[in-house]
Amino acid sequence: MKALVYYGNKDVRLETDWPEPSVGPGRVKLRILGSSICATDIEEWQHGPLWVAHETPNPISGRQVPLILGHEAAGEVIEIGDGVTGVEIGQRVAIENVETCGVCFWCKRGESAVCPSMSVFGLSDDGGLAEFASWRGDQLIPLPDSISDSEAPLAEPTTVAIHAVRRSGIKPGDTAALIGCGTVGLLTLQVAKAAGAKVIAIDQRASSLDLAKKLGADYVLNSATDDVPAALADFTDDIGPDFTFETAGAERTPVDAINWTRRGGTVVLVGIYSATPKVNFNEIVGNERTVIGSVAASPGDYRMAVDMIGRGLIDVSFLVSDVISLDDVIERGFERMIQPNKDVFRIVVQPG
Ligand SMILES: [Zn+2]
Ligand SMILES: [Zn+2]
Repeated sequence: MKALVYYGNKDVRLETDWPEPSVGPGRVKLRILGSSICATDIEEWQHGPLWVAHETPNPISGRQVPLILGHEAAGEVIEIGDGVTGVEIGQRVAIENVETCGVCFWCKRGESAVCPSMSVFGLSDDGGLAEFASWRGDQLIPLPDSISDSEAPLAEPTTVAIHAVRRSGIKPGDTAALIGCGTVGLLTLQVAKAAGAKVIAIDQRASSLDLAKKLGADYVLNSATDDVPAALADFTDDIGPDFTFETAGAERTPVDAINWTRRGGTVVLVGIYSATPKVNFNEIVGNERTVIGSVAASPGDYRMAVDMIGRGLIDVSFLVSDVISLDDVIERGFERMIQPNKDVFRIVVQPG
């Protein structure tokens, strides 16, 4: 089969004769309907290996490089292994991509989002940038007809937004500042709105702010041209936002997130940081701010993402910037995503 295989730093190859996955007990074989290219894939390609299992095999999957990329994917069930219940041949499913050990200290406490052995489809095991994939039969979520094949992979970044908003404990009527209106930012905006918050979206790209406005932001601020602290004070009667969600992942933005949140408020860090910013911790201590880190998802978040998208509570259609074939995955996918002024959120790859 065709597959996009990660070998190492700056080395991804479109293989045309890669072995198709076999289906062991508890597993299901899927024909991939769509798989989106994430900024994480581009970071792995340019700066990795970061998340991809490379020096030692992942303890759950037993796999390491070379691995098929693609952690945001959906497929059609074409073969069902022994012991799998609840899925049918021909069913369209989202792939709940985080597999945890179930036996460690954290898993046993119900905190599997931080299981140290965690294996991720498309990062520590073969993923969805291929014609076929194999995955656990109990981690497939049936897709409603209202979610198209090209939209379905976007359930994955939606889980990141749902996880962040649920971890924050935000309540109806609270005010949230959102730093960064990329894919995860615009999804976080919609989830926070669904939770009843007032949202102030902040970005330096006018086009992203227009989109934020369309998706329900109560107020938008351009960090390149507006005096953001003054505008936030103005919007919140000099109090500051109750919550700030940082999804930009830049050097300065986590520091801004801490400084801009009201005294006693909560900062949720969702970005992945390549720089190490200088933080004045007295901004946290002296103002009793709470800082929460949020990554990936907890059990249940994925099902919730599919449900909310399916019901129209979250719109992912605007995130599908292009749909390309697997043959074009490098030239029209990966290479486009590294352009400095890329005008894309997600490029969805459809092998069929
Ligand atoms: Zn991703
Ligand atoms: Zn565990």
